[in-house]
Amino acid sequence: MKTILVTGGAGYIGSHTVLALLEKGYSVVVIDNFSNSNVEALHRVEKLAGKQVKIYPYDCCNKEDFEKVFKENKIDAVIHFAGLKAVGESVALPLRYYNNNIISTINLLNLMCKYEVYNIAFSSSATVYGDPKSVPIYENFDLHVSSPYGRTKLIIEDMLRDLSVANPKFNIALLRYFNPIGAHPSGFIGENPNGIPNNLVPYITQVAIGRLKELGIFGNDYPTPDGTCIRDYIHICDLAEGHVLALNKIFSGCGLVTYNLGTGKGYSVLDVLHAMEKAIGKPIPYSFKPRRAGDIPACYASPEKAFEELGFKAKYTIDEMARDSWNWQKNNPNGYENK
Ligand code: NAD
Ligand code: UDP
Repeated sequence: MKTILVTGGAGYIGSHTVLALLEKGYSVVVIDNFSNSNVEALHRVEKLAGKQVKIYPYDCCNKEDFEKVFKENKIDAVIHFAGLKAVGESVALPLRYYNNNIISTINLLNLMCKYEVYNIAFSSSATVYGDPKSVPIYENFDLHVSSPYGRTKLIIEDMLRDLSVANPKFNIALLRYFNPIGAHPSGFIGENPNGIPNNLVPYITQVAIGRLKELGIFGNDYPTPDGTCIRDYIHICDLAEGHVLALNKIFSGCGLVTYNLGTGKGYSVLDVLHAMEKAIGKPIPYSFKPRRAGDIPACYASPEKAFEELGFKAKYTIDEMARDSWNWQKNNPNGYENK
């Protein structure tokens, strides 16, 4: 049985991916400092899978702690989710982002070299494409970033590209996620943002449960059919499955590969709002607000390369994504703090 180290495994994408890995028969070790998550997520994953996860409540920036994970386990591959991810916060606190995201990754890569673990999938983001010259976005498009958060993703991609040239033993998958939403269909695990959500779907579900008053839609004068921005929303379980397929590729000995993980379909903010209203069964109050700094009009993936080389194809529809987002929120109005 192969052992996968999942950094940031208690987070939104991490917890769903850990479940998918356990279901595929992998043994899973998680390191997470719970700075943006709750250990309860992993306990629920264990219940859903009927299997245990080995949990290290450590910070990846602490080299000595991190090394214990490598000393005590024979790791076959790493999925590296750990990182801070709020774009706006990264503009206000750039050093916090550089410290956390870059130092944790340097520690990880040094340990991987020392313990001869040469297989890694990295959580990159569609943000590395900046405002693309056209849509859909292909993996070979130019890369531009405009926030410290985005820059940490690009710096880490560059580090991994350099490492792959220096050491051909490395198998590296750079996975560029589009917009994950939804939750596991059981409603036991889901997205659990701290404070007021920055992202569209958790904001809508928190309006629906009465925690927030109304949704502000950032801009209705974009050059899109209904004037609101278009994004590629992907169900979190499809995204988790993408990691399992990426691991297959890594274990086949792939060198460095880069994939978009998206659906290839673009939906506007109003499309998402309407899908959510259908799932929730009532209208959501909203008003139009000025554009949000840094937003681009349209962003959606070409999913072709991931399909051709990984066999990855997103299965869930926007209505199913809305259903599962709402199912999670209504069953867990206070996220993981319920229990
Ligand atoms: P998340 O915040 O839910 O999960 C990240 C996890 O990493 C959290 O559990 C957090 O506690 C942990 N963590 C952060 N810094 C750590 C450190 N120094 N040591 C140990 N643990 C640490 O975020 P997510 O949505 O699951 O995202 C996972 C990854 O995917 C991140 O790297 C993020 O940048 C990237 N990503 C996310 C999205 C998205 O929309 N959610 C899109 C593109 C890329
Ligand atoms: N959005 C919005 N109101 C909100 C949050 C988001 O109108 O309260 C819009 C945002 O402008 C973007 C889309 O919803 O067009 C998706 O935003 P999100 O922050 O979820 O993801 P992003 O694509 O920015 O990473």
